Formats: sequence, C-alpha cells, structure tokens
Amino acid sequence: MSQGCIEQGIESSGDTNQSNKPLFNHPELFTHTRSVVQNKVLRAENQPIQPEAIPAELVDKMKRILQESGGIGIAAPQIGINKQAIIIVRTDKPDSPMQAYFNPRLTWVSKTLSKDYEGCLSVPEGVGLVERPSDITVRYLNEAGEAQEETLSGIIARVFQHEIDHLNGILFIDKKLDQPLLSVEEYLKMKAEKKQ
Ligand SMILES: [Zn+2]
Repeated sequence: MSQGCIEQGIESSGDTNQSNKPLFNHPELFTHTRSVVQNKVLRAENQPIQPEAIPAELVDKMKRILQESGGIGIAAPQIGINKQAIIIVRTDKPDSPMQAYFNPRLTWVSKTLSKDYEGCLSVPEGVGLVERPSDITVRYLNEAGEAQEETLSGIIARVFQHEIDHLNGILFIDKKLDQPLLSVEEYLKMKAEKKQ
C-alpha cells in the first residue's frame, strides 16, 4: 500500500513534482460525469483488434492524449473509441516507454491481494483505495500484432487490471471501496503529510 498507483500519473511524476497534475478537463477525454453519452461509451462493449489490423492511428492518438493528460495508463473507450486497446507507461522498464496492448486478458491472478489508491482520467471526482490481486499474468497482442504473455507485480500489475476493467466497461468506483473518495488535492496532501 506504500507505492500508490494512479492512472493520472500523480505517483509516476513523483510526489515532489506536481507540475504534471492530471488534466481531467482534457477536451478529448471522456468522463463518466460529463454527459450521458460519454458514460455510455465508457460502459459499452469493446471490439477486439485483429493482429493484421493494428490501429496505428488510434495508438498515436491515445499516446498523445495520455502524454498531454500526465497519465500512466489509458484505454480506448476513454477517448470515445470502443476497441480493445490500452496504452501503459511502463515505469518498470528503462526509460519508461509508452506501450500499446490489444485484447489484453488476465490468464492468472495471485490469491494475494493488495490495496492501493487509484484514480482515473474518466473519474474527475477523486481517488479511492482499491483492492486487487498483487500479481497477474496477462496475455495480449503487442504493437507488432504478436501474441505475448507477461507476469507482473506491483504498480504495473495494478495499472493493467485497471485498464482491462475499462475494456469491460468497469470503472474503479464500481468496486467496493473502503472509504469515500478523496479529492486529488486531499490525496496529495495526505501523501505529503505521510512523508514528513
Ligand atoms: Zn481509468
């Protein structure tokens, strides 16, 4: 529970650097609060991607919006496209590359669970403590259209689960949360106080 993990990337940008605060008002981001239509898109079914038809334009657009929002993960429905595509900033790899994954599926989850704070570019109202399996194995198509499998733990395992939820129309606020949502400001204040 010490690492913290937030789609908006508050953690990835470091607690001391808040210049990279998330932009919930990014005009191309869909939020569940902005309109009934946007909420419907976030809840809709997402079409799988064929390996021979990797959507390069969609990937470029998602990477740009993720970068502009200061996030560490994004799913296609969050920009209004109901396809099974996610982008994750791989903070577990050298130079933290942004990588695209298609049709991701969890093929194994650990019995061990962990709780951590999550936020979401589509949930402007705040940050919540979410319990999830600590370790996962995920199968996906990479940007070359190749099937791959990885076993992951820590923040990246959490981000994958959060993004895969999006592809199933699930937001973290649909899960049972231990406490009311904290606003981003409250969350950052709490983290700063914990550090002292
Ligand atoms: Zn999200």
